[in-house]
Amino acid sequence: FLPRMLHVPELFEGAGGAILVLSDVTELARVDEMRAELVAVASHELRTPLTTLRMTLLMLEEGAAALSDRQRELVSTSVLGAAQLASTIDEYLDLTRIEAGQLRLDREPIEPAALVRDAIARAATLAADSGVRLETAIPDRLPLVVGDGARLRLVLDNVLSNALKYTPWGGRVAIEAAEEDGAIRIGIADTGPGIPAEYSERVFEKFFRVEHHLPNRERGGRGAGIGLYLCREIVGLHGGTIRCDEAPGGSGTRFTVRIPIQFSP
Ligand code: ADP
Repeated sequence: FLPRMLHVPELFEGAGGAILVLSDVTELARVDEMRAELVAVASHELRTPLTTLRMTLLMLEEGAAALSDRQRELVSTSVLGAAQLASTIDEYLDLTRIEAGQLRLDREPIEPAALVRDAIARAATLAADSGVRLETAIPDRLPLVVGDGARLRLVLDNVLSNALKYTPWGGRVAIEAAEEDGAIRIGIADTGPGIPAEYSERVFEKFFRVEHHLPNRERGGRGAGIGLYLCREIVGLHGGTIRCDEAPGGSGTRFTVRIPIQFSP
Protein backbone atom coordinates (compact mmCIF):
# COMPACT_ATOMS: atom_id res chain seq x y z
CA PHE A 1 0.00 0.00 0.00
CA LEU A 2 1.33 3.40 -0.99
CA PRO A 3 0.14 6.37 1.01
CA ARG A 4 0.53 8.70 -1.96
CA MET A 5 0.30 8.31 -5.71
CA LEU A 6 3.62 7.22 -7.12
CA HIS A 7 5.01 6.80 -10.62
CA VAL A 8 5.83 3.29 -11.71
CA PRO A 9 9.26 2.93 -10.12
CA GLU A 10 12.23 2.92 -12.43
CA LEU A 11 14.98 0.45 -11.76
CA PHE A 12 18.52 1.22 -12.76
CA GLU A 13 20.74 -1.80 -12.51
CA GLY A 14 24.48 -1.33 -12.56
CA ALA A 15 27.62 -3.20 -11.53
CA GLY A 16 27.33 -2.05 -7.96
CA GLY A 17 23.69 -3.01 -7.48
CA ALA A 18 20.44 -1.33 -8.32
CA ILE A 19 18.87 2.07 -7.66
CA LEU A 20 15.15 2.36 -7.34
CA VAL A 21 13.79 5.75 -8.41
CA LEU A 22 10.43 6.67 -6.99
CA SER A 23 8.98 9.96 -8.07
CA ASP A 24 6.21 11.46 -6.11
CA VAL A 25 3.45 12.46 -8.54
CA THR A 26 1.57 14.47 -5.93
CA GLU A 27 4.65 16.65 -5.49
CA LEU A 28 5.12 16.98 -9.28
CA ALA A 29 1.48 17.93 -9.77
CA ARG A 30 1.81 20.54 -7.03
CA VAL A 31 4.90 22.08 -8.67
CA ASP A 32 3.06 22.11 -12.00
CA GLU A 33 0.09 23.84 -10.43
CA MET A 34 2.36 26.42 -8.78
CA ARG A 35 4.11 27.08 -12.08
CA ALA A 36 0.78 27.58 -13.86
CA GLU A 37 -0.39 29.91 -11.12
CA LEU A 38 2.85 31.89 -11.24
CA VAL A 39 2.49 32.40 -15.00
CA ALA A 40 -1.16 33.41 -14.57
CA VAL A 41 -0.32 35.95 -11.86
CA ALA A 42 2.72 37.28 -13.73
CA SER A 43 0.67 37.61 -16.92
CA HIS A 44 -2.00 39.52 -15.05
CA GLU A 45 0.59 41.81 -13.43
CA LEU A 46 2.04 42.46 -16.88
CA ARG A 47 -1.27 42.91 -18.62
CA THR A 48 -2.70 45.60 -16.33
CA PRO A 49 0.07 48.20 -16.79
CA LEU A 50 0.26 47.22 -20.45
CA THR A 51 -3.42 48.09 -20.89
CA THR A 52 -2.75 51.54 -19.42
CA LEU A 53 0.20 51.96 -21.73
CA ARG A 54 -1.82 50.93 -24.78
CA MET A 55 -4.67 53.28 -23.88
CA THR A 56 -2.23 56.17 -23.53
CA LEU A 57 -0.59 55.39 -26.84
CA LEU A 58 -3.93 55.09 -28.62
CA MET A 59 -4.99 58.47 -27.23
CA LEU A 60 -1.74 59.95 -28.50
CA GLU A 61 -2.36 58.34 -31.88
CA GLU A 62 -5.87 59.79 -32.02
CA GLY A 63 -4.47 63.26 -31.49
CA ALA A 64 -1.78 62.61 -34.09
CA ALA A 65 -2.60 65.82 -35.97
CA ALA A 66 -0.77 67.78 -33.28
CA LEU A 67 2.35 65.62 -33.63
CA SER A 68 5.30 65.96 -35.94
CA ASP A 69 5.85 63.23 -38.57
CA ARG A 70 8.66 61.73 -36.52
CA GLN A 71 6.56 61.71 -33.35
CA ARG A 72 3.66 60.09 -35.19
CA GLU A 73 6.01 57.41 -36.50
CA LEU A 74 7.34 56.74 -32.99
CA VAL A 75 3.83 56.49 -31.57
CA SER A 76 2.66 54.00 -34.21
CA THR A 77 5.78 51.86 -33.70
CA SER A 78 5.03 51.84 -29.96
CA VAL A 79 1.37 50.94 -30.57
CA LEU A 80 2.52 47.98 -32.66
CA GLY A 81 5.09 46.91 -30.05
CA ALA A 82 2.55 47.10 -27.22
CA ALA A 83 0.05 45.04 -29.24
CA GLN A 84 2.73 42.42 -29.93
CA LEU A 85 3.60 42.26 -26.25
CA ALA A 86 -0.07 41.79 -25.34
CA SER A 87 -0.47 38.88 -27.75
CA THR A 88 2.78 37.29 -26.53
CA ILE A 89 1.41 37.36 -22.99
CA ASP A 90 -1.83 35.77 -24.23
CA GLU A 91 0.18 33.08 -26.00
CA TYR A 92 2.12 32.22 -22.85
CA LEU A 93 -1.11 32.04 -20.90
CA ASP A 94 -2.63 29.69 -23.47
CA LEU A 95 0.54 27.59 -23.49
CA THR A 96 0.24 27.12 -19.72
CA ARG A 97 -3.42 26.21 -20.09
CA ILE A 98 -2.62 23.64 -22.78
CA GLU A 99 0.11 22.08 -20.63
CA ALA A 100 -2.37 21.84 -17.76
CA GLY A 101 -5.05 20.43 -20.10
CA GLN A 102 -7.19 23.43 -19.23
CA LEU A 103 -7.59 25.27 -22.50
CA ARG A 104 -11.31 25.74 -23.05
CA LEU A 105 -12.75 27.53 -26.04
CA ASP A 106 -15.22 30.38 -25.65
CA ARG A 107 -17.51 29.45 -28.50
CA GLU A 108 -19.62 31.86 -30.50
CA PRO A 109 -20.90 32.01 -34.07
CA ILE A 110 -18.19 33.45 -36.30
CA GLU A 111 -18.35 34.69 -39.87
CA PRO A 112 -15.02 33.52 -41.34
CA ALA A 113 -14.77 36.05 -44.19
CA ALA A 114 -14.94 38.94 -41.70
CA LEU A 115 -12.44 37.17 -39.43
CA VAL A 116 -9.94 36.91 -42.30
CA ARG A 117 -10.57 40.47 -43.51
CA ASP A 118 -9.92 41.81 -39.98
CA ALA A 119 -6.66 39.86 -39.77
CA ILE A 120 -5.58 41.34 -43.10
CA ALA A 121 -6.45 44.85 -41.88
CA ARG A 122 -4.31 44.30 -38.75
CA ALA A 123 -1.40 43.13 -40.93
CA ALA A 124 -1.64 45.97 -43.45
CA THR A 125 0.83 48.33 -41.73
CA LEU A 126 3.44 45.62 -41.25
CA ALA A 127 3.01 44.57 -44.89
CA ALA A 128 3.47 48.15 -46.12
CA ASP A 129 6.52 48.65 -43.88
CA SER A 130 7.97 45.35 -45.13
CA GLY A 131 7.46 46.11 -48.81
CA VAL A 132 5.22 43.07 -49.17
CA ARG A 133 2.08 43.14 -51.31
CA LEU A 134 -1.04 41.53 -49.87
CA GLU A 135 -3.25 39.78 -52.44
CA THR A 136 -6.65 38.69 -51.24
CA ALA A 137 -9.42 36.47 -52.57
CA ILE A 138 -12.11 36.54 -49.89
CA PRO A 139 -15.83 36.19 -50.63
CA ASP A 140 -18.22 38.72 -49.04
CA ARG A 141 -19.67 36.09 -46.77
CA LEU A 142 -18.99 32.50 -45.82
CA PRO A 143 -21.06 30.02 -43.79
CA LEU A 144 -20.79 30.58 -40.04
CA VAL A 145 -18.55 28.41 -37.91
CA VAL A 146 -18.86 27.96 -34.16
CA GLY A 147 -15.55 28.89 -32.66
CA ASP A 148 -13.45 30.95 -30.31
CA GLY A 149 -13.03 34.30 -32.04
CA ALA A 150 -10.06 35.54 -29.99
CA ARG A 151 -8.16 32.29 -30.45
CA LEU A 152 -8.90 32.03 -34.17
CA ARG A 153 -7.65 35.60 -34.50
CA LEU A 154 -4.46 34.51 -32.78
CA VAL A 155 -4.07 31.68 -35.33
CA LEU A 156 -4.51 33.99 -38.32
CA ASP A 157 -2.28 36.71 -36.83
CA ASN A 158 0.47 34.16 -36.21
CA VAL A 159 0.44 32.61 -39.67
CA LEU A 160 0.08 35.98 -41.38
CA SER A 161 2.83 37.64 -39.35
CA ASN A 162 5.16 34.69 -40.04
CA ALA A 163 4.45 35.02 -43.76
CA LEU A 164 5.31 38.74 -43.60
CA LYS A 165 8.31 38.18 -41.37
CA TYR A 166 9.95 35.72 -43.76
CA THR A 167 9.01 37.30 -47.08
CA PRO A 168 11.71 39.56 -48.50
CA TRP A 169 11.08 43.11 -49.66
CA GLY A 170 9.15 43.18 -52.93
CA GLY A 171 7.49 39.82 -52.22
CA ARG A 172 3.84 38.79 -52.07
CA VAL A 173 1.53 37.19 -49.53
CA ALA A 174 -1.70 35.75 -50.98
CA ILE A 175 -4.63 35.12 -48.67
CA GLU A 176 -7.72 33.23 -49.72
CA ALA A 177 -10.77 31.87 -47.97
CA ALA A 178 -13.41 29.54 -49.34
CA GLU A 179 -15.97 26.93 -48.44
CA GLU A 180 -14.79 23.45 -49.37
CA ASP A 181 -16.12 20.00 -48.46
CA GLY A 182 -18.10 21.10 -45.41
CA ALA A 183 -15.25 23.21 -44.09
CA ILE A 184 -13.85 26.71 -44.35
CA ARG A 185 -10.43 26.65 -45.96
CA ILE A 186 -8.07 29.56 -45.38
CA GLY A 187 -4.85 29.64 -47.36
CA ILE A 188 -1.90 31.95 -46.72
CA ALA A 189 0.90 31.66 -49.27
CA ASP A 190 4.12 33.67 -49.29
CA THR A 191 7.14 34.14 -51.53
CA GLY A 192 9.65 33.65 -48.70
CA PRO A 193 12.43 31.05 -48.39
CA GLY A 194 10.00 28.15 -47.93
CA ILE A 195 10.06 25.41 -45.31
CA PRO A 196 12.01 22.28 -46.32
CA ALA A 197 9.61 19.32 -46.73
CA GLU A 198 11.35 17.40 -43.92
CA TYR A 199 10.37 20.16 -41.47
CA SER A 200 6.81 20.72 -42.65
CA GLU A 201 5.43 18.75 -39.68
CA ARG A 202 8.13 19.66 -37.18
CA VAL A 203 7.44 23.42 -37.41
CA PHE A 204 4.27 22.67 -35.42
CA GLU A 205 6.28 21.25 -32.53
CA LYS A 206 6.77 23.32 -29.42
CA PHE A 207 10.01 25.36 -29.51
CA PHE A 208 10.97 24.07 -32.97
CA ARG A 209 12.50 26.73 -35.19
CA VAL A 210 14.16 26.73 -38.59
CA GLU A 211 16.89 29.33 -38.97
CA HIS A 212 16.45 31.33 -42.16
CA HIS A 213 19.18 33.70 -43.16
CA LEU A 214 17.32 36.64 -44.54
CA PRO A 215 18.44 40.25 -44.70
CA ASN A 216 15.16 41.30 -43.04
CA ARG A 217 15.19 38.47 -40.50
CA GLU A 218 15.29 40.90 -37.58
CA ARG A 219 11.97 42.39 -38.69
CA GLY A 220 9.80 40.53 -36.21
CA GLY A 221 12.51 39.71 -33.72
CA ARG A 222 13.51 36.18 -32.77
CA GLY A 223 10.53 34.05 -31.96
CA ALA A 224 10.30 31.38 -29.31
CA GLY A 225 8.92 28.74 -31.65
CA ILE A 226 5.58 28.36 -29.89
CA GLY A 227 3.34 30.20 -32.37
CA LEU A 228 2.61 27.33 -34.73
CA TYR A 229 2.37 24.84 -31.87
CA LEU A 230 -0.41 26.97 -30.37
CA CYS A 231 -2.06 27.34 -33.79
CA ARG A 232 -2.25 23.57 -34.22
CA GLU A 233 -3.64 23.05 -30.70
CA ILE A 234 -6.28 25.75 -31.19
CA VAL A 235 -7.33 24.61 -34.67
CA GLY A 236 -7.46 21.03 -33.34
CA LEU A 237 -9.85 22.07 -30.56
CA HIS A 238 -12.11 23.39 -33.33
CA GLY A 239 -12.03 19.97 -34.98
CA GLY A 240 -9.91 21.39 -37.81
CA THR A 241 -6.43 21.00 -39.28
CA ILE A 242 -3.46 23.22 -40.13
CA ARG A 243 -0.65 22.19 -42.41
CA CYS A 244 2.02 23.70 -44.59
CA ASP A 245 3.38 22.84 -48.00
CA GLU A 246 5.18 24.49 -50.87
CA ALA A 247 3.39 27.57 -52.19
CA PRO A 248 1.86 27.19 -55.66
CA GLY A 249 4.40 28.41 -58.16
CA GLY A 250 7.24 26.64 -56.44
CA SER A 251 8.76 29.19 -54.08
CA GLY A 252 7.69 30.04 -50.56
CA THR A 253 5.33 28.41 -48.12
CA ARG A 254 1.57 27.99 -48.03
CA PHE A 255 -0.26 27.39 -44.77
CA THR A 256 -3.75 25.90 -45.01
CA VAL A 257 -6.21 26.07 -42.13
CA ARG A 258 -9.43 24.04 -42.31
CA ILE A 259 -12.27 24.56 -39.85
CA PRO A 260 -15.34 22.33 -40.18
CA ILE A 261 -18.60 24.22 -40.59
CA GLN A 262 -20.55 21.85 -38.42
CA PHE A 263 -18.60 20.71 -35.44
CA SER A 264 -20.00 19.49 -32.17
CA PRO A 265 -17.30 18.51 -29.67
P1 ADP B 1 8.64 31.57 -34.33
O1 ADP B 1 8.16 32.32 -35.52
O2 ADP B 1 8.33 32.22 -33.03
O3 ADP B 1 10.04 31.09 -34.44
P2 ADP B 1 6.63 29.61 -35.05
O4 ADP B 1 6.12 28.45 -34.27
O5 ADP B 1 5.67 30.64 -35.45
O6 ADP B 1 7.79 30.22 -34.19
O7 ADP B 1 7.36 29.05 -36.33
C1 ADP B 1 8.28 27.98 -36.22
C2 ADP B 1 9.32 28.04 -37.32
O8 ADP B 1 8.70 27.79 -38.58
C3 ADP B 1 9.98 29.40 -37.45
O9 ADP B 1 11.14 29.47 -36.67
C4 ADP B 1 10.31 29.49 -38.92
O10 ADP B 1 11.61 29.01 -39.15
C5 ADP B 1 9.34 28.55 -39.60
N1 ADP B 1 8.32 29.31 -40.34
C6 ADP B 1 7.08 29.63 -39.92
N2 ADP B 1 6.39 30.29 -40.88
C7 ADP B 1 7.23 30.39 -41.95
C8 ADP B 1 7.11 30.96 -43.26
N3 ADP B 1 5.99 31.56 -43.67
N4 ADP B 1 8.19 30.86 -44.09
C9 ADP B 1 9.30 30.25 -43.69
N5 ADP B 1 9.48 29.69 -42.47
C10 ADP B 1 8.47 29.76 -41.60
